[in-house]
Amino acid sequence: MIDLHSHTTASDGTYSPAQLVDEAGRTGVRILGITDHDTFSGYDQALPLARQAGLELVCGIELSTKLHGHSVHLLGYFLNAFLNPDGLDVFRGWIGDLQASRRERNVRLVARLRELGLDITLEEVRARGGGMTGRPHFAQLLLEKGYVSNLQEAFDEYLDEAAKGYVTRREPQFAEAVRHIRDAGAIASLAHPVRLREDAAAILPELRAAGLNAIEAYHSDHSPSQTALYLELAAQHGLLVTGGSDFHGAAKPEIALGTGRGGNLKVPDDLVARLRASVAG
Ligand code: AMP
Ligand code: FE
Ligand code: FE
Ligand code: ZN
Repeated sequence: MIDLHSHTTASDGTYSPAQLVDEAGRTGVRILGITDHDTFSGYDQALPLARQAGLELVCGIELSTKLHGHSVHLLGYFLNAFLNPDGLDVFRGWIGDLQASRRERNVRLVARLRELGLDITLEEVRARGGGMTGRPHFAQLLLEKGYVSNLQEAFDEYLDEAAKGYVTRREPQFAEAVRHIRDAGAIASLAHPVRLREDAAAILPELRAAGLNAIEAYHSDHSPSQTALYLELAAQHGLLVTGGSDFHGAAKPEIALGTGRGGNLKVPDDLVARLRASVAG
């Protein structure tokens, strides 16, 4: 079994890299992509453990980008490939800048939420965020403090783009993020296209022109007919196909590693071989 989309405690998942490697063994995942938000630290920690466990690990990342003013998630794969070591150094440096912009945003977000009367501190949020504190950790804290009754309410009331506590952060434009991934010799895949605010078929030519070379046709949020549509669009636009559960552990308990939501995920066995062939040129 293959799963190319998962998160660890290095971003907003609740499984440590070691626990995620164990979970892959338990559930029969043979090839695992770790795609933490804006960080490789989960992958880096999992790599030696995966080697011991005989698990094949794919180095990935998930980036939040802006497209036409909306947030669009972009996956990068094989960012440890051998083809362009200088490009990879540049890429890791650029990720460092993104992390700095998030830390700076977190300071302003705490101030904004305090202005709104919520008694929280940066230290409290950081304690829940590990290396990569983001809005999901703010949501967790607001829930723990009883300001909201569930995580979604924290976003709806305070943290969503349209909510009263929202503060902006510098997010890269979609095209800029694609360029950084492709310059590193890696694959850039449009994450969970079902969540796009715009019509995928209508905007794919533009995304393709920006350098996008894959689409996540298989995902826990996709119905069979949506998966079929994205596979057809991939064929039409000459895009590679990626897929995974988007496992977050207890943060999204309804999603299982490898098999998705109630078993709705089935990533084909030859998918990674196809991706590898394209990375190797
Ligand atoms: P950040 O990168 O710190 O701004 O946090 C972004 C993350 O927050 C996303 O990857 C989602 O997991 C989560 N998120 C953002 N908006 C919402 C929303 N409206 N409802 C639920 N989760 C959200
Ligand atoms: Fe996430
Ligand atoms: Fe995502
Ligand atoms: Zn994800």
